[in-house]
Amino acid sequence: MSTAGLFDLSGRVALVTGGNGGIGLGMALGLAASGASVVIAGRDEAKNAGALARLVALGAPHHALRVDVADEAACRAMPGVAAERFGRLDILVNNAGVARRRRPEAMSLADWNTVLATNLTAAFVAAQGAYPLMQAAGGGKIINIGSMYSLFGAPYISAYAASKGALVQLTKSLAAAWAGDNIQVNAILPGWIDTDMTRPARTGAPDFDRAIVARTPAGRWGEPDDFAGPAVFLASAASDFVTGASLAVDGGYSITG
Ligand code: NDP
Repeated sequence: MSTAGLFDLSGRVALVTGGNGGIGLGMALGLAASGASVVIAGRDEAKNAGALARLVALGAPHHALRVDVADEAACRAMPGVAAERFGRLDILVNNAGVARRRRPEAMSLADWNTVLATNLTAAFVAAQGAYPLMQAAGGGKIINIGSMYSLFGAPYISAYAASKGALVQLTKSLAAAWAGDNIQVNAILPGWIDTDMTRPARTGAPDFDRAIVARTPAGRWGEPDDFAGPAVFLASAASDFVTGASLAVDGGYSITG
């Protein structure tokens, strides 16, 4: 058999939430480089514009949407808006995420709700919005961005860990429900990645930085670029028999104790 074209996304349309920076932009750039038209969705207009400029510099038309995915109506409408822009929707990447670092006894319900709404409920609602579009097109790909906290817990990260653990179970359930529609649903679990989310801890706590590097067999923090390949794999025909899986992209962090 030939593997030519297995990773080609020409003519495909991808929606990446939180695609205006960090891991989301790393994936958006990878999808665009493989031929997809990419719609990024984020709240910050300036970050949206900067990321869109980087995508457009690759050559094809792309688009940015200002969306707060924690706003249920806006999130539900978002896949349809993306599809209107380019005529179809093939790939949804639920990447937008927030963390609130507090011990559980000190965490407000407002913080809990913000984390769950952004990291978990929005992925469900966006997937619901994307489903009829993908079904009508004969198939699609959904990629949910989990975390090492999909696997582990920690004293200061209860809401985040709850949201990311549940996202893995949501991934399996959506995969089971929609396999018959030729929609594959998978998760990526990033290790420790140098982005806006982790930079304060990385730069402000040298012991923490050293501990992460020491535990990561690859011997370094991950970079947003490390997510281009995994995103293209899970968005392309190369992964058509892969569904409900969680792929750790962590330099080996999760295999060490
Ligand atoms: P960033 O803070 O750089 O990215 C978060 C992205 O989410 C931003 O683009 C932000 O855009 C967007 N976002 C947040 N809230 C909303 C919202 N309500 N509506 C729309 N967009 C939103 O961090 P990362 O790139 O690190 O995080 C990306 C994903 O990877 C997250 O889900 C995170 O949990 C996960 N992750 C990160 C790890 C790491 O080590 N960095 C490790 C494991 C998982 P804007 O501000 O414009 O809304």
